[in-house]
Amino acid sequence: MSRPSVTVVGLGPMGQAMAAAYLDRGYEVTLWNRTPSRADALVARGARLAASIEAALRANELVVMSLTDYEAVYAILRQAPQALSGRTVANLTSDTPAQAREAAAWLAGHGAVQITGGVQTPPPGIGSADAATYYSGPAEAVERHRAALEVLTSVDYLGEDPGLAALYYQIGIDMFWTGLVGYLHGQAVALANGISAERFLEHAVKTLDFKYFLEFYAPRIDAGNHEGDVDNLGMAVASLSHVVRTAEDSGVDPSVPAAILELFRRGVESGRGRDSLTSLTEVVKR
Ligand code: NDP
Repeated sequence: MSRPSVTVVGLGPMGQAMAAAYLDRGYEVTLWNRTPSRADALVARGARLAASIEAALRANELVVMSLTDYEAVYAILRQAPQALSGRTVANLTSDTPAQAREAAAWLAGHGAVQITGGVQTPPPGIGSADAATYYSGPAEAVERHRAALEVLTSVDYLGEDPGLAALYYQIGIDMFWTGLVGYLHGQAVALANGISAERFLEHAVKTLDFKYFLEFYAPRIDAGNHEGDVDNLGMAVASLSHVVRTAEDSGVDPSVPAAILELFRRGVESGRGRDSLTSLTEVVKR
């Protein structure tokens, strides 16, 4: 039986981890990257560096792409649109849902199929089934390439809409960035007061254990039930004012909690002072 094969385009930290995972699993791996030297370590392990993006596309039906954004996707694929016909492009580049849908249509116009992916792990998690990637696009293409996709992470298939994987990814990243910046801001206040990050760690872990709140609020959000029986925005304004003042008194830029305080105040001004924090899902609607 011939060895399974794949083309990997894009060799940032993520693309390199993906190509390495395919080599680990015995795949024949063809590579292309704008900066060819980033393929050196993989070539030393047996991967083949294509001389052009056209050759890389023609080498395999499955092309895994991992680039900074979709601008980079077009910058590369527009060099050889004639080689796209018949390819399945697993586009694991993150960008907006609209960009993912537009790219799927553009690829279809060139006879290729896009499977959109949103990788939910940093590069060290690639190659582990414990990590997952959101996928969307034609179910038939995902099933046909499931074995190859599962070399990278487990497959979390969401549906046919090519924007769906990007949407789920962006929602998760929205939560991740804002949550993580809250953690870093709090640690900055701790440091400014002579408390090391490691000293505060055990308290941070307890404070950021949100599972109870996530599960408690989700059905209420869906029901539009913003009853202020356990919390309310008026209380939250007072609480965050103290956080902002503590940051200022510690010589720390308060702009992160101040932005949230501003949001809470808008909620109160719109008449939701006695409503739950969940009413913010209405306050932020445009
Ligand atoms: P990088 O931004 O480091 O990816 C860089 C890759 O994109 C390189 O191959 C680079 O080529 C190429 N590239 C960028 N701009 C262009 C361009 N104009 N023309 C041609 N090639 C271009 O990102 P990562 O490898 O870290 O991640 C890749 C994708 O995975 C991103 O969309 C990221 O959001 C997503 N992701 C990353 C995670 C992470 O922890 N790293 C976690 C989850 C998702 P060159 O080498 O020549 O510069």
